[in-house]
Amino acid sequence: MKRIGVLTSGGDAPGMNAAIRAVVRAGIYRGVEVFGIYHGYKGLITGNIKKLEVSDVGDIVQRGGTILYTARCEEFKTEEGRAIAIEQLKKFGIEGLVVIGGDGSFMGGVKLTQLGFPTIGIPGTIDNDIPETDFTLGFDTALNTIIDAIDKIRDTATSHERRFIIEVMGRGCGDLAMWAGLADGAETIMIPEKKEDIDTIVERLNRGLQRGKKHNIIIVAEGVGSANDVAEAIKARANMDTRVTVLGHVQRGGAPTAFDRVLASRMGSKAVELLLTGEKGKMIAIQNNKIVAHDILDLLTKKHEFNNDLFQLAKELSI
Ligand code: ADP
Repeated sequence: MKRIGVLTSGGDAPGMNAAIRAVVRAGIYRGVEVFGIYHGYKGLITGNIKKLEVSDVGDIVQRGGTILYTARCEEFKTEEGRAIAIEQLKKFGIEGLVVIGGDGSFMGGVKLTQLGFPTIGIPGTIDNDIPETDFTLGFDTALNTIIDAIDKIRDTATSHERRFIIEVMGRGCGDLAMWAGLADGAETIMIPEKKEDIDTIVERLNRGLQRGKKHNIIIVAEGVGSANDVAEAIKARANMDTRVTVLGHVQRGGAPTAFDRVLASRMGSKAVELLLTGEKGKMIAIQNNKIVAHDILDLLTKKHEFNNDLFQLAKELSI
């Protein structure tokens, strides 16, 4: 294999740039040319492809977002779209591809592999919703952004003796909410994996009130519903006033943490190594601090494992 490509697809996540840098430099180090494909699968179809040199990926390891841009591309979901993509890859002489993105992007990669074009995936999403990997790229950075915000909100919650409901991202996965809740000592964590009804939450709030607790942090994962709805439901049952903060897209941006930069570097290098040894249709993962690879088709039939121990611990510590 003499030429490989790299693209970012789906939602952006901090650490994607560090992964692009790792793929480019690990490739050049091993004597292959690396091509950047812009705007995800859309760029593969339109031929928005450019050779990347060592210096093209300088000064990006610390930047959030993705220098290759990202996009969603309906056309790539069609056979015709993928046939054009394969033609483009042939035109540029590219023989293998690294896809940095979420499970949708991996599905696209698998389809290319099935057409005889080797693809390796790197899990890049703040949601941590990918199976068989302890962490996805961007999760740690988003978590730290959330904690930073909650620390600030807690100052006001304490000073004004108020209850704050904070909505965090994560799609169907409660990891961001759970880890943030544990790290920030939230009194209540609402996640889709362990649904609690509003009555139980109101009971807990009342118990807290009775023993003199005047402020509260409630973290709601977006997979549970909207924080505004939770606030209304609490008000309807207990006539308690709450303040709502929806953190929104600040969670997706910012400089990646050291953890995400190191993870991205390790995963990027491993992806190149696998492509060059003839592997395909695999996703790079981190498990017990080891960089490993799993078959994507197999992986897509599974769900990200919920860490019940961590959830119990968070509950124990917030009595
Ligand atoms: P994510 O990768 O974050 O899960 P999406 O699900 O939006 O994001 O997928 C990103 C892109 O991957 C889509 O816009 C499409 O181009 C491609 N893709 C997703 N699912 C498929 C599929 N089943 N077949 C081919 N391509 C797909």
